[in-house]
Amino acid sequence: MNLQRTIKREIFCRGIGLHSGRKINMKILPAGIDEGIVFIRRDVPGHSAVTACFENVSDTTLATTIGINGTSVSTVEHLMSAFSGMGVDNAIVEIDGPEVPIMDGSALPFVSLLKDVGTRPQKKDKKILVINNVVSVSDYTGTAMLLPFPAFKITYKIDFKHPLIGQQFYSVTITDITYETEISAARTFGFLKDVEYLQAKGLALGGSLKNAVVLNDKTVINKEGLRCADEFVKHKILDAIGDLSLTGMPIKGHFIAYKSGHKLNHLLLKELFAHKENYAVVSRYSKEGNADAGQMSSLRRQSFKVFDAMNA
Ligand SMILES: [Zn+2]
Repeated sequence: MNLQRTIKREIFCRGIGLHSGRKINMKILPAGIDEGIVFIRRDVPGHSAVTACFENVSDTTLATTIGINGTSVSTVEHLMSAFSGMGVDNAIVEIDGPEVPIMDGSALPFVSLLKDVGTRPQKKDKKILVINNVVSVSDYTGTAMLLPFPAFKITYKIDFKHPLIGQQFYSVTITDITYETEISAARTFGFLKDVEYLQAKGLALGGSLKNAVVLNDKTVINKEGLRCADEFVKHKILDAIGDLSLTGMPIKGHFIAYKSGHKLNHLLLKELFAHKENYAVVSRYSKEGNADAGQMSSLRRQSFKVFDAMNA
């Protein structure tokens, strides 16, 4: 399971862009070792390529956008989340519009497509990003942090002043199985008043009850209701996995967030990579990143402090 992986054959899919409202065709192709995930805008002269990496993040309002030299691709987080959750390291994504299709608002359609074609190992180990220090960022809305941990774990808490959401808490160690069964189907969500405001400004033009959970002041207005009671916090975890995948490597560490979002997730990666002692890049035989018992108990105390702060 430690070799890099790409898809076995190409995937084609078509869907609406959440913000542009345009029909977008997307083709996903196998890619070579160490190529990572590369987006190619087929509709732009020269077919400019944008590598999915945190250095290329150009905007984090409403969605995560990556761009370079004037070419950008928006709403990459759900597809990136599916690649990361299903262990795909290398792929080329060709699209003929400015954003990745929103599909049903979750990562499940991408997971199904990836499973349909299957993935294959390549002849080189995955690089793994090991978190060696506690790294944390906060703003007036929330906190996001990474701590050393022997697996990729996410603990997330949200707190909305809405009777149906309120506080939701979820903690999970991410494997391809937990990703697919617990996280991938959670849809994006929004509030009716915000949707109306955004659409008046020419945004979220593709947004509908087919690709988002929409809430009025009291409840969910989608006829089918929620896929699970904690769909909201699970979608935030889905987003975070996509945002964190912009490191270009699987992570060995614990991501803890309180009311985080695309902006804080991105700032966290900038802070992580700003100091070399915060991380190590290793392959499978390395012992680095396996904290000893003393370190682990001190880290556990630190994470309890974070939970206490979250619950204050
Ligand atoms: Zn999302």
